Amino acid sequence: MSAVKENGNLQQGPIIEVTDLHKQFGPHTVLDGVSLTAHTGDVVSLIGASGSGKSTLLRCLNMLEIPHRGKVCISGEEILLKTNRHGQTVPANPRQVDKIRTRLGMVFQNFNLWPHMTVLENIIEVPVRILKQPKAEAIAYAEALLEKVGMSAKRDAYPGFLSGGQQQRVAIARALATRPAVMLFDEPTSALDPELVGEVLKVIRDLAKEGCTMLLVTHEMSFAREVSSKVLFLHKGRIEESGTPEAVFTAPVSERCRQFVNAQQWKS
Ligand code: ADP
Ligand code: MG
Repeated sequence: MSAVKENGNLQQGPIIEVTDLHKQFGPHTVLDGVSLTAHTGDVVSLIGASGSGKSTLLRCLNMLEIPHRGKVCISGEEILLKTNRHGQTVPANPRQVDKIRTRLGMVFQNFNLWPHMTVLENIIEVPVRILKQPKAEAIAYAEALLEKVGMSAKRDAYPGFLSGGQQQRVAIARALATRPAVMLFDEPTSALDPELVGEVLKVIRDLAKEGCTMLLVTHEMSFAREVSSKVLFLHKGRIEESGTPEAVFTAPVSERCRQFVNAQQWKS
């Protein structure tokens, strides 16, 4: 199959543009002024210690968490927020959030497939129910995606009968089914047994080669170095270092980034 066709990506500017994002949980500031940009075909990797805010940042992009301050634009469209009468920041238009979520293909650490649906049903659910695609068309595209992730043989299986690596490959196919403008991966291999990591990284590597735009949170440093166009090191809710993989992995300016990268490379 040729490069992934994108939904809602008709303009020329950045696909993701995050400006000065802030997020708190109670008194705890988790994102403290994060800005980042990703253009078509960029593979941006996000690295950093546990608790540095990586998952929260991804979750703020699709409004699974609502930022307190700052701006998120997806394919040039700003997600509009307002302050409600309780003083909380909330999306101004829930329909806009639904629409923008279909442009963001999210893949979580724990797969999160719907257990009561077959592999194929998992993949066609959002295209048919939310995007109102004709079922036959959604099935045809799902079958092409299953082929791409090497899971055609399990089309009619239930997730509980699949290995973690297989479930994650199905989760990637499901995320691709809405033809997202960008894929968001949150540590897609960290819940897997070591022998299953490779099959999932292969699928992500193939997507990168096809020019799929991605934001990838990962602890797989050598993989991040291989596939990324840009690497960001997050520390205590701020981007402390950013640059090409070569720059961040071999000559970081920040001492903390150098220590983190060295410690991670030592582990693997
Ligand atoms: P990372 O993905 O880099 O490990 P997270 O974004 O998950 O970091 O978490 C950053 C910080 O925010 C952590 O201290 C975490 O405990 C806290 N946090 C994350 N989600 C919540 C939540 N829903 N409620 C309260 N605190 C949270
Ligand atoms: Mg996380």
